[in-house]
Amino acid sequence: SPIPDYLAEALLSVEADQSGQTADYIPELASADPDRLAVAMCTHDGRLYSQGDCDQAFSIQSISKPFVYALALADRGFDEVLEKVSVEPSGDAFNEISFEPGTGRPLNPMINAGAIAAHTLAGPRDATPTERTSRIIHGLSAFAGRQLTVDNGVYESEITTAYRNRALANMLRANEIIGGEPLEAVVGYTRQCSLLVTVEDLAMMAATLANRGVNPVTGAPVVPAPVVRQVLSVMATCGMYDGAGDWMTRVGIPAKSGVAGGLIGALPGQAGIATFSPRLDQHGNSVRGVDLFRRFTSDMGMHLMEVP
Ligand code: GLU
Repeated sequence: SPIPDYLAEALLSVEADQSGQTADYIPELASADPDRLAVAMCTHDGRLYSQGDCDQAFSIQSISKPFVYALALADRGFDEVLEKVSVEPSGDAFNEISFEPGTGRPLNPMINAGAIAAHTLAGPRDATPTERTSRIIHGLSAFAGRQLTVDNGVYESEITTAYRNRALANMLRANEIIGGEPLEAVVGYTRQCSLLVTVEDLAMMAATLANRGVNPVTGAPVVPAPVVRQVLSVMATCGMYDGAGDWMTRVGIPAKSGVAGGLIGALPGQAGIATFSPRLDQHGNSVRGVDLFRRFTSDMGMHLMEVP
């Protein structure tokens, strides 16, 4: 297959770019090796290709959001989830304190407010916070096709400084979007963000979305097809924070980035792609990851608005 050579060449083409900065609001991420670089691609029928630092594990961070949103939709149904979290792009930063006037709902599940709410909607209604978090860890592991574990160093590092996310959870509680103790929602959400993944895991998770919710390697049905349609639509409109419009026009596939430097894209019916490079641009998206995806779009005609 020419794919491994192509991926290696793509990494070489972006390798020299040292622009951007690692996230520093989570102390443990600020100390990550900024030069790491990796890419993986998994086809809808389960062929996996990877290059670069593909064994390097890093925390999933915001890339967990679309998958937890998927679990919430699958577990509670569309009506219950949509009543609590809208699907409108906010054009705001990921941690913006923004709620819909009138309803008090977060604008979408890709910003932190909406992701914390979606976290509380995964699993059965009467689940304890611990049961909910374990449902999420199992669910994300099913997307990846292997058991994922939490990085406790990253978790501790983030939870002790999570003042903004605590504020968001308190607002969600005051707006009656979440029930229970707000801090428990932040604890569970932060654990979810601290799950360790490699680019290969992420490519597999994205490929499960590209394959109608069925993991292409294990064959496990993780979430139903209508849920996948909803999740990919929200990724397309809200996945790249305040850089979402630029992304959709230039790259043109549903995607999600995380502050640890991961980035995924899912091309329905075709493949899941993931990159890892820790330095971020002003929107919080991986600089070399965005570059790689731009290159893939022009080389492989991935843009969804283009007639193949
Ligand atoms: N755990 C991070 C936070 O809530 C995730 C942010 C991200 O990856 O963009 O601040």
